[in-house]
Amino acid sequence: MRGFASRAIHGQPPFKRDVHGALRFPVYDSAAFEVGSSRELELAFTGRKPSHSYTRITNPTVEEFEQKVRLLTGSFAVVAVASGMAAITETVLALCESGSNIVTSPYLFGNTTSLFESTLKRWGLEVRKASMADPSSLEGVIDDKTRMVFLEIISNPQMEVADISEICRVAKQKNVPVVLDGTLSTPYIFRSKEAGVAVEIISSTKYMSGGATSTGGLIIDNGTFNWKQHPAVADDALKVGPAAFATRLRREIHRNLGSCLAPHNAWLQSLGLETLALRMEKSCTNALEVATFLESSLQILHVNYSGLTSSPFHATALAQFGKRFGGLLTFELSSKEECFNLMDSLKMIKRATNLNDNKTLILHPASTIFCDYNAKEREEMLVNDRMIRLSVGIEDVQDIIDDLKQGLEKL
Ligand code: PLP
Repeated sequence: MRGFASRAIHGQPPFKRDVHGALRFPVYDSAAFEVGSSRELELAFTGRKPSHSYTRITNPTVEEFEQKVRLLTGSFAVVAVASGMAAITETVLALCESGSNIVTSPYLFGNTTSLFESTLKRWGLEVRKASMADPSSLEGVIDDKTRMVFLEIISNPQMEVADISEICRVAKQKNVPVVLDGTLSTPYIFRSKEAGVAVEIISSTKYMSGGATSTGGLIIDNGTFNWKQHPAVADDALKVGPAAFATRLRREIHRNLGSCLAPHNAWLQSLGLETLALRMEKSCTNALEVATFLESSLQILHVNYSGLTSSPFHATALAQFGKRFGGLLTFELSSKEECFNLMDSLKMIKRATNLNDNKTLILHPASTIFCDYNAKEREEMLVNDRMIRLSVGIEDVQDIIDDLKQGLEKL
C-alpha cells in the first residue's frame, strides 16, 4: 500500500475520472441530481442503489473527500458533516436514547461539555464521568444503559493523553464502543482503528482544512465494533450487518439533522488533506521547540505539553504517537492580567479561538471557551485564569519564539 501522503494526494486509483480529465475533482455545487428514471429514484431513496439525489444526504464532492479519508484510515465508512460539533451530535443521536448514558472524561473541549451537560441532558441523556488516565475506573461506571465511552485523544485544553488501547480493552469487555475525538492527532499521527476505537470523530476545521479555510467534521466508523451488540442499531445490524451505524446515520440522523458539509468546503478540505502530513510534521516540531523555550523562561510557571519529559503523559504519548505530540500546548503565568498583557503585546501570533491553523494562535480559555462556567467549575475542569493556550503553526519557529520572547520581556 502507498504511504499516507501519496494516498492523501492521489486518493484511491482508479477514482471516478472527471469527464474532462480535470486533475482536481470538481465542486458539484448543486442541491439536487437527476437520475435516469423514476425507478432509479426509488432505488436511490430506498438505499438499494447508491446514487446522489440531494446534497443534504450525499454529494459527489463530499463523497470524494469521504472516500479519501476512508482510504487513509482503512475504515469501514465515513460520513462528512458541517463541523466537528455536528459530528459529535450526530454520533450521540445515532447511538443513544433518552434514559441511556455515556461515560466520558471531565476534561473535554468546552462546547462538547456544554452539548453533553446542557443540550443533551435536557433530552434525557445521563453523562457519567470517569478518569481516562485510569482506564480501570471505567469498569465501575459502565452499566447496561451505557451506549458509548467518549474521550479526546489529547484533551483540549487540559492536554491529558489517555492510553487508548487500554480504554478500548476495558470498554470491549463491557461491549461498549469507544468514540474518540481525534481532532488533535488526526489519522496522520494516530491510527485509531489499530487501537480498537469504534468511531473516530474529527473536526476537519482544524488541521485538515488546510489552514482555517472552512468548518467541517468527520464521523469515521472503523469497522472494529460488532453493531449487533449495540442496542441502538442491533436491529439494523441484522439487516445490513457492519453497515448498521453508517446506515443509521445516512438514512436517518444525518439526513434529518441537515448538518451536511457544503460541497465547496469538502473541496477545500480534500485539498487540505493533501498537505496534512507536511503541515503536521512542521507544526509538531515547532510546538516541541516552542514548548522547550517556554519551559526555560523564568516568567512561566508551568508548561503543559506531552512532548516534554516533564509531562505526566510523556510516556503514553511517546508510545502512542511516536515523536509527534501535536501542535497544541498550554502554559501558566501568575495571573489573568499577566496573560492578557502577554497576549496583547504579541506582534505576529494571532489572538483567535481556532486551533491547528497554519498561523500560530493564542487564547485565554477561561475567559472565552469556558466563560459559561464559574470559577469552581473551571477549576474542576483544570481550566484556571492563569492558563494560556497556544496553537503552534507552521511559521519559521524562530519568529514564533521571538514574538513570545519580546512579549514576555515586557511583563
Ligand atoms: N473537538 C475538539 C477537540 C475541538 O477542539 C473542537 C473545536 O475547537 C471541536 C471538537 C469542534 O469542532 P468544530 O469547531 O469544527 O465544530
